[in-house]
Amino acid sequence: MIPARFDYVAPTSVEEALQALAEHGDEAKILAGGQSLLPVLRMRLNAPEWVIDLGKIDALRGIRDDGDAIVIGALTTHHDVMHDALVEEHALLIKKAATEVADAQVRHRGTFGGALAHADPAGDLGAPALALGAEFVIAGSGGTRTVGADDFFVDLFETAIGEDEILTEVRIPKHTGWGAHYAKFVRVAHQWPIVAVAATVKADGGTISEARVGLTNMGSTPLRARGVEEALAGATASEDGVREAAAKAADGTNPPSDLNGSAEYRRHLATVLTRRAVAAAAGG
Ligand SMILES: Cc1cc2nc3c(=O)[nH]c(=O)nc-3n(C[C@H](O)[C@H](O)[C@H](O)COP(=O)(O)OP(=O)(O)OC[C@H]3O[C@@H](n4cnc5c(N)ncnc54)[C@H](O)[C@@H]3O)c2cc1C
Repeated sequence: MIPARFDYVAPTSVEEALQALAEHGDEAKILAGGQSLLPVLRMRLNAPEWVIDLGKIDALRGIRDDGDAIVIGALTTHHDVMHDALVEEHALLIKKAATEVADAQVRHRGTFGGALAHADPAGDLGAPALALGAEFVIAGSGGTRTVGADDFFVDLFETAIGEDEILTEVRIPKHTGWGAHYAKFVRVAHQWPIVAVAATVKADGGTISEARVGLTNMGSTPLRARGVEEALAGATASEDGVREAAAKAADGTNPPSDLNGSAEYRRHLATVLTRRAVAAAAGG
């Protein structure tokens, strides 16, 4: 289908974009890579009167070192994220997950900020961002505010970003030297995950000292498997060594049931994938 008619503006600065948002309010939609928004417009699930394209705002692109964190500009593509040396060194989990997003075509257009702002519970980047304790920098007419990962994902396709605000960058605390693995379960290559598990682990001589685990598609938002994380401290870095901790992966989750699998099947997948992801992250 062809989208409903809309007007289009492509500002060259965040200030101009915020001004356009203030003028057009809830009649406007922000466009980043368009990989989620354009299908929505084509299916006429949304028909904004204005589309505000961020594509000409170069300040929103790129990755930089900021001391104890790396900062990823919202408009940085998945392709650029997965090939960045800072991401590989300090946030390996983000690289591993970005590599699993869709296919090469989508990764060249889709953006890091767009995927997180879209907040699809099956999106591959939410759980890693949550597990790493990311901070989301959001610009609005009153200035800039920073929202922690625990408060950013509000519900299905809903984040802390207001209608008159723009996600400008995401700060990822450095996890230098931590192993990482993103275990994604799909029926067909390049699909959204039925369930996925994001694990990053600090291991010392075959023993896990600290672990962070995020779950994809196990509820209406990405989830942190805190019970697993606590149980992993001191575990042996192998599939057998982490089995008991991984069995807690589905505790407190509320996964959907759909044509890809029942909630019960997803709970089972979460424990299996957690075991594999943690063991792989720990090098076991
Ligand atoms: C065929 C296909 C397969 C895919 N498979 C996967 C997959 O396996 N895993 C996965 O994770 N994703 C997948 N995606 C989605 C892909 O990751 C998109 O890149 C992502 O969901 C949206 O990013 P975007 O830059 O294209 O954003 P857009 O589509 O441009 O925008 C998405 C939404 O976020 C809002 N938005 C965008 N940027 C900002 C911002 N800076 N501030 C505030 N709001 C903003 C928009 O208004 C819109 O509502 C797939 C997409 C396609 C087309």
